[in-house]
Amino acid sequence: MLWSVAMRMGEHSAIEAVAFSLPQKWAHFISSRLLRGRGKTFEAEFSVLIPHSTVTANVLKQRAQVYMQGPDKIAFLMMSKPQNPSIQSLFSFRFALLILFGCFLITAAQAAAQAPAPDSPELEAKARAMLARLTLEQKIELLGGMDDMFTRPMPAIGLPRFKMSDGPVGVKTWGPATAFAGGAALAASWDPALARRIGEGLGRDARARGVNFLLGPGVNIARSPVAGRNFEYFSEDPFLAAAMVVPYVEGVQSQGVIATVKHYALNNQEYDRHNVSVDVDERTMREIYLPPFEAAVTKAHADAVMNSYNLINGVHATQDEFLNVKVLKNDWGFQGILMSDWDATYDGVAAANSGLDLEMPTPRFMNARVLLPAVKKGLVKESTLDDKVLRLLRAELRYGFLDRPQLDLADSTYSVADRAVALDGARESLTLLKNDGGLLPLDPAKIKTIAVIGPNAYPAVTTGGGAAETQAFEPVSILTGIANLLGPDVRVLYSRGLPEMMDVFKNTQWEGGVKVATYSSKDFTGKPEMASLPFIADWNQRSLQSDAETPQSIRYTSSYKAGKAGRYLILAVSQSWGGGEYKVMIDGKQVFAAPQLDGQVPQSATIDLEAGQTVSVVAEYLPIAGDGVRFGLGIAYEPDLVSAEAKTIAAAADAVVVAAGFTAETEREGADRSFSLPWGQDQLINTVAEANPHTIVSLIGGGGMDTRPWLSKVPALLDAYYPGQEGGTAIAEVLFGRRNPEGKLPVSFDRSWEENPSAQYYYPISGADTSLHVVENDKPPVDYVIGHVKYGDKLMVGYRYWTTTGKHPLFPFGFGLSYTTFSFANLQAPATAVSGSSVPVSFDVTNTGSMAGAEVAQLYISDPSAKVSRPERELKGFEKVRLAPGETKHITLNLDSRAFSYWDEAAGKWTIDPGKFVIRVGDSSESTPLSAEMTLN
Ligand code: BGC
Repeated sequence: MLWSVAMRMGEHSAIEAVAFSLPQKWAHFISSRLLRGRGKTFEAEFSVLIPHSTVTANVLKQRAQVYMQGPDKIAFLMMSKPQNPSIQSLFSFRFALLILFGCFLITAAQAAAQAPAPDSPELEAKARAMLARLTLEQKIELLGGMDDMFTRPMPAIGLPRFKMSDGPVGVKTWGPATAFAGGAALAASWDPALARRIGEGLGRDARARGVNFLLGPGVNIARSPVAGRNFEYFSEDPFLAAAMVVPYVEGVQSQGVIATVKHYALNNQEYDRHNVSVDVDERTMREIYLPPFEAAVTKAHADAVMNSYNLINGVHATQDEFLNVKVLKNDWGFQGILMSDWDATYDGVAAANSGLDLEMPTPRFMNARVLLPAVKKGLVKESTLDDKVLRLLRAELRYGFLDRPQLDLADSTYSVADRAVALDGARESLTLLKNDGGLLPLDPAKIKTIAVIGPNAYPAVTTGGGAAETQAFEPVSILTGIANLLGPDVRVLYSRGLPEMMDVFKNTQWEGGVKVATYSSKDFTGKPEMASLPFIADWNQRSLQSDAETPQSIRYTSSYKAGKAGRYLILAVSQSWGGGEYKVMIDGKQVFAAPQLDGQVPQSATIDLEAGQTVSVVAEYLPIAGDGVRFGLGIAYEPDLVSAEAKTIAAAADAVVVAAGFTAETEREGADRSFSLPWGQDQLINTVAEANPHTIVSLIGGGGMDTRPWLSKVPALLDAYYPGQEGGTAIAEVLFGRRNPEGKLPVSFDRSWEENPSAQYYYPISGADTSLHVVENDKPPVDYVIGHVKYGDKLMVGYRYWTTTGKHPLFPFGFGLSYTTFSFANLQAPATAVSGSSVPVSFDVTNTGSMAGAEVAQLYISDPSAKVSRPERELKGFEKVRLAPGETKHITLNLDSRAFSYWDEAAGKWTIDPGKFVIRVGDSSESTPLSAEMTLN
């Protein structure tokens, strides 16, 4: 339960941050901030999060007032530049006290100066006056970025450059920062109030670093579990993603920071992301892929949107007039800045005419050389460029960027308050998927020895990789989180359980070493330079080489002799960013190939060998110019991968936590990941489970993973997504019952990659490639080959597919276990309603168990009488409730007309077919104990 208390204080207040000293047992987190007001009025805002509902509304209300009135009960955390030396006298001012119940920090304090000012005739006049002072050349200059993360300054009109930082998990670009729960984790909380708090935390972190634009949130739909950026994105469901993104954006922007909603649109895979066209019909776009962007723009008024790398229906996103002008700017009324992704612009004239306002990171195409002649020839109108400049200027004026420093010293660079928000993010997202025999929660009194095993046990895995990867100041690992919670009386044993990748490379016993043939041609022709190496572990080793120095192609040749009969792991990697292409052949047969892509994740395969069998191994590698040689290859006997130490400590412990899953190295931007867990982890889990029946698996990953090799052997499974920097603490709290798990899956968790409805439509259709001719300034033209991915799954994404086909995934969308139980009753919905009116649906949720906990009530709609085919169930409402044992809450969800609509492609609008609708309520897409029929006239 989130309580927000706003206090209006008198003039000359000098507090920068204040907190109540409520007793710890009541409020595990207290935040406060001064929202500097205009003129002589200052406002401060206090937020108190009560962990469970044992404190009733009235009690808190009374206590809050008591504490507000007693100066001795108010703790000062930090003060700066007191204008009034007598702090005590501060509280002699009369203040207005307002207590709000509910989710959002909507208080009188919202009118703070830091939040964007609404557009006004004065603001418009100011922007136009600035525009009028610019020459055409100067206007064009403003349409491109600089120094990777800045807009361009224009001293002629007193415009400085403005700073950006990557998000969406943390303000990551300018050094360590708070790493919050990633998008998938945040969505698993199903708590819009938490999204608001995380947005505010990101905004504060941005202000503490002088950042004007946060490059987040990422709101693309998690269509497939292997897409590399799912951890940044929210959900497979557009309604849930939209519900979370609105408060997130509002939170960021309330702090005077522009949120940049990305990647517009349809970035649902990383595979060849620069060169694939997503071919999809408009209805699918409007119903599945666009709603989170739409909500961010129409409801949260996001002031920036970033185009995607992928093409849409054969057109580059930055040149997509339909999406950028028709949908974003006209249909949704977007008033902000549309920027490109970094180097996602291919044609200056087309981009200028198709709605792109800002080319990042530099004006390679939207520059004077391209646009000046284009304006002269009438290919681009000057008014089109004016509109772009005005959008930039308006946004900058709206946020007061010209009137105040963006670096706000009131915000801590290292913020304990934001650590607390990050902790709540992790706590609310953790999703318990299996708990056979009630193994969890573990009783700390009965555990004398616990083993924490696995590659993700230590150090902490906080975020996935790429632009979102955030270095936290002090991330808490699962190992340290458990040890901290248990204290000195419990033995905590740790083993990584598996070797590091580098150890596999270095420990590979190649027969007679490795011959390395380095060529100055790209195709292994010509006379190579020969060398010999004991092992292949150049990966991340060599410093960058200039383009000229980087070898063009390298062939590694050796042979490997199997010591024992059995299965062998073959493991290879090239550098994770911009990784070079390679393939590996054993006895002349290709075992895997990694194409030249934007990023690389390690590749693995297995092969069965006889004792004493020798195989020839050849690897062909094409380094990236300027990146140096970064390639590693190794072979290991699979049964020996799991360390003996892991088995020993597993057997000696009262319970074992295996920390498995993906990391920033194996799940990242620029590459897709595997559905199987990274190499060795299935063996590790099985080995530990054999040694100890009380084995709990804790997984990190942005979506579903292959649990088939071991799930039946482990009694408990916890999905942690990417929980942010406080994940270790939250996981320990859940494992030991300090917190009741409350996360619910924001995606369907499939058994296999093949059963995911997108699998057969995932890769480009063979033979459908087209080409794109790009001319960049004076450079020779480039012809790009464009692959076409056809979204044949259309609306059947995730649970829409499962509920329509009547088949079942491993764990359904919306599912998550609790240590208590809940029941649903008394569904009330009108039997008939007028189409287009708001329809109230109410029901009761009761905690029928013995522990306080949170349930997410989910409302799904079916439209059996629709003229078009619609998915069997679609989420149209939800609410998270915290309930004490035995407590019941009555919930009312109001369904607006959109809840009943589909996109009518012929009419080009949202349409409701009058007739029968079925409303279902429950705790997952597959468990809906309440249902009612209603008719819309
Ligand atoms: C990513 C964006 C990111 C940008 C700037 C791109 O590679 O796709 O999400 O904001 O880089 O770092």
